[in-house]
Amino acid sequence: MITLINRLASVQHLDNDNLSKLIATCCHDDNLFNQLRDKATQTAREQFGLGVYMRGLVEISSYCKNNCYYCGLRRDNKNASRYRLSDEDILACCNEGYAVGLRTFVLQGGEDAAFADNRLVSLITQIRHTCPDAAITLSLGERSAESYQHLFEAGASRYLLRHEAANPLLYDHLHPSNMSHANRINCIKSLIAIGYQTGMGMMVGAPGQTIEHLIDDLLLMKQLQPQMIGIGTFIPHPDTPFGMHHSGDLRLTYIVIAIARLMHPQANIPATTALQTLSPTGYIDGILSGANVVMPNITPLALRPQYEIYKGKHHTNTPIAETIQSLAQQLATIGYHL
Ligand code: SAH
Repeated sequence: MITLINRLASVQHLDNDNLSKLIATCCHDDNLFNQLRDKATQTAREQFGLGVYMRGLVEISSYCKNNCYYCGLRRDNKNASRYRLSDEDILACCNEGYAVGLRTFVLQGGEDAAFADNRLVSLITQIRHTCPDAAITLSLGERSAESYQHLFEAGASRYLLRHEAANPLLYDHLHPSNMSHANRINCIKSLIAIGYQTGMGMMVGAPGQTIEHLIDDLLLMKQLQPQMIGIGTFIPHPDTPFGMHHSGDLRLTYIVIAIARLMHPQANIPATTALQTLSPTGYIDGILSGANVVMPNITPLALRPQYEIYKGKHHTNTPIAETIQSLAQQLATIGYHL
């Protein structure tokens, strides 16, 4: 098995059968699990040293026209209390983040028609003006290729759109019939063709997902070569059709993150909020599985609880500067810095 890890590290690829063996063995063999994570951490260090990048996350709207079966922001969740930030709010979040050293802002939200292209173009233009050396990342779901193009021309240079499931049948199991795997993948291909640094990814432990599905995810990402890879653990939200399912497995999540790192040495891979939600050491265990990015939440404090994609989503109740200081302290315990 150790030869498989070494081969994965040296050629950045393994076939389906070997990935399957490696994952299955790491699930129960602590020694191999640790070796895999060590190799992934070492690979990340060769690229990024002991530095971890920060991306300031602004959750701009909890309104969504979609009805994904797993997500607490789904349209039919009548128990959700919804908010939408004003342009002034969003600019204030970015300016506050900028003042404490953030140089990438991620504007994420549900698919909310209030954020039409003209409004986003104006927002992007203003952020570019007040934070000239900051990168703007969008994570606003599926839009037309024309829309992605306009936003790119306005100055957004990165876009996160998890593919959610490479296997079309699993995709259909997780989404209502008006959403399609083909459209999701087309959106990702448009983003790549336009020139965005593009992020893909999926949840580990989504209802109905098998190890084979995760291998399909790894192989699809190998094929499309995203610059960013977001992998979190599925966590149920009671007001969704999947509310009765249990959370995905953290250990399996770390295994998949480590393999993604070995397949994509240069990709930006965040230690996601889902990890920290399931474990108080989630962020650092993500870093110790090969992740190299953390995404401090810079949404206005009072609204953070309302962006509830899953139950109990981790959020700090502290101003940005303190959140960053606490992240720095956690990372320092394993010898890393922001
Ligand atoms: N509307 C945007 C942003 C979605 S939220 C979009 O479509 O891209 C970002 C990610 O949260 C989703 O891509 C999904 O993978 C993840 N997510 C949603 N519900 C979740 C849940 N119950 N558990 C864990 N992750 C979840």
